[in-house]
Amino acid sequence: MLKGGYWGKILWVDLSSKKISEATFDEAFARKYLGGVGLATRIVSEHVTRNTNPLGPGNVLVFATGPYQAANIASAGRCSCAARAPLSGYWGEANAGGHIGPELKRAGFDAVVITGRAANPVYLWINDGKAEIRDASSLWGLDAVETTAALKESVDAKAAVSCIGPGGENLVRFACIANDNHGYFGRGGMGAVMGSKNLKALVIRGTLKPPIADEGKLREVYKDVLSRAKDAPFTKDNAEHGQASAVVPREENGLLPMKNFTMDNWTEGAAKIGAPHFTEELQIKRWPCPSCIMGCHRRITNPKYFPADTGGPEFETLGMIGSNLLIDDLGAIVRANEMANRYTIDTIDLGGVLGWAFECYEHGLITKEDTDGIALEWGSGDALVKMTEKIARREGIGNLLAEGLRACVEHIPGTQLYAQESLGQTVGAHDPRAFWGQTITTIASTRGGCHLHGFAEAFDLGALLPEIGITEGTDRFDVAKKGYAGAIYQDIQQFWNSLTWCFFYFFSGVTLADQVNMLNAITGWDVTPAEAQKMGERIVCMQQVFNLNMGMVPEKENVMQERFTKPHKEGGAAGKVPPWQAILQEYWETKDWTKGVPSKAKLAELGLDKLEAKKALSDAVARDYKKD
Ligand code: SF4
Repeated sequence: MLKGGYWGKILWVDLSSKKISEATFDEAFARKYLGGVGLATRIVSEHVTRNTNPLGPGNVLVFATGPYQAANIASAGRCSCAARAPLSGYWGEANAGGHIGPELKRAGFDAVVITGRAANPVYLWINDGKAEIRDASSLWGLDAVETTAALKESVDAKAAVSCIGPGGENLVRFACIANDNHGYFGRGGMGAVMGSKNLKALVIRGTLKPPIADEGKLREVYKDVLSRAKDAPFTKDNAEHGQASAVVPREENGLLPMKNFTMDNWTEGAAKIGAPHFTEELQIKRWPCPSCIMGCHRRITNPKYFPADTGGPEFETLGMIGSNLLIDDLGAIVRANEMANRYTIDTIDLGGVLGWAFECYEHGLITKEDTDGIALEWGSGDALVKMTEKIARREGIGNLLAEGLRACVEHIPGTQLYAQESLGQTVGAHDPRAFWGQTITTIASTRGGCHLHGFAEAFDLGALLPEIGITEGTDRFDVAKKGYAGAIYQDIQQFWNSLTWCFFYFFSGVTLADQVNMLNAITGWDVTPAEAQKMGERIVCMQQVFNLNMGMVPEKENVMQERFTKPHKEGGAAGKVPPWQAILQEYWETKDWTKGVPSKAKLAELGLDKLEAKKALSDAVARDYKKD
């Protein structure tokens, strides 16, 4: 019996048949798949086949909470979203803040699964155990800010609104989903999946109180956790500047992308777009996710930069559409960020495709004839803003860029060097030459290019996991244990993303043991840190099996991007290149995977016997899914 943390209920909505139903699960299921991304992995793996078109009615779109969304604790304002990714054709997953997670839980469901395709634009209204599909024809074409305002006014001012703008409607393959104009399901193209289903928005309001197994114990554990977290230096820095505080130090240590990862130094530019100038110039205020004591999300209050109705740029955005394009014009970055948020397109992939396009322009492979007269020159804020519009609207060359980096390289063969991607998804603003712990995250994340699937950069930075034997890190340029750490941090990250919890608290002194203690108080379980790691390992393994079943060939895909195999000449990472083959081999050995394929013994150990790790039989690209 489920004692706390869950209702044991999943809402199923088939938009084709308009059928709404509920599925239930028990304690054994919850303890195996946990919630959030774990629960979503289980559901997507079961229902998606290799012939499922990510933009067809057969794809399933899952929004899943974890046990933490039942509790009023800091960092619990998160939610996971997953589907087969239209950007890669492989595993697609995003994690975001906003009110959707807590509201969905309070509405009486642990997750909502959306299948099929509505005949006309619709939105889904979920309220205290009930759900209704409603017409959204009048909302189609509105941006995320307009949509959110309209739905709050017409349905419920206190409801959480998760919606798409024109980017999602136009099936931009890296379209995101906006949550209350504040948090974004950014990666993989989840917004395009929503658009393909003619689903404009989810509107959710809940007043139910989810069960907690031992409220007294939870408050006792949480009081201790909170007292440490609120005084941590990282908490104070993140509260004051948000992740803009990372720009200058990461330019210094060589991690910041500069000129599509080709340049070594950009000191003056970094100072112009990073903190403290960022904070002072934009007159920044905190904008926390629900219950968060840190509040890294930013609200711009300087009227000079209005309209600024959405979350201000954070580190990945400043890196990918700022330094990556050598744009030090904060006004242009803020404007493009606001447009991307309103149109719902991911700013990391926006920076990735523009990095490719700017480099093609530099080499004469794209000209003004291709761009309707726009000069794609490094440092041009004007080009950034105009191209953001073109991509969201799929106008001119924007139609090509909206297809993502692999389609771009197919269009102009020989330009792979300019495309910093894995599985077709842009890598984050983290150059792995600067932190070798980031190698696995860069080349072997199950969701493709990514800075967060594992984030073993934390291992290099000294954020450790003593509960499971990681008591000391190694130098950022020391190969020792980088593959091992890549594997373990991936497991732990997926455990956290299943709770569902905000990773930033790891840097504020919240430990794995703290997480396990809070989980046990909420659920009444007796999970150990070792079991927590196994839970995460199971989820990563399921995602790898999913990708294998979608046709992925790990030996071909888990390869370091060519640009990262040549060292910088100067800067904080001068002369350094991670020995990625050795790191990958150690990663696979730690996982008990042979060339990326989990062994039968490992599948049995993780209770995944029914999943068969099929070795990919052909080199067929995953986009070859025409039967749906
Ligand atoms: S630290 Fe930032 S991302 Fe994390 S819960 Fe708080 S506001 Fe949200």
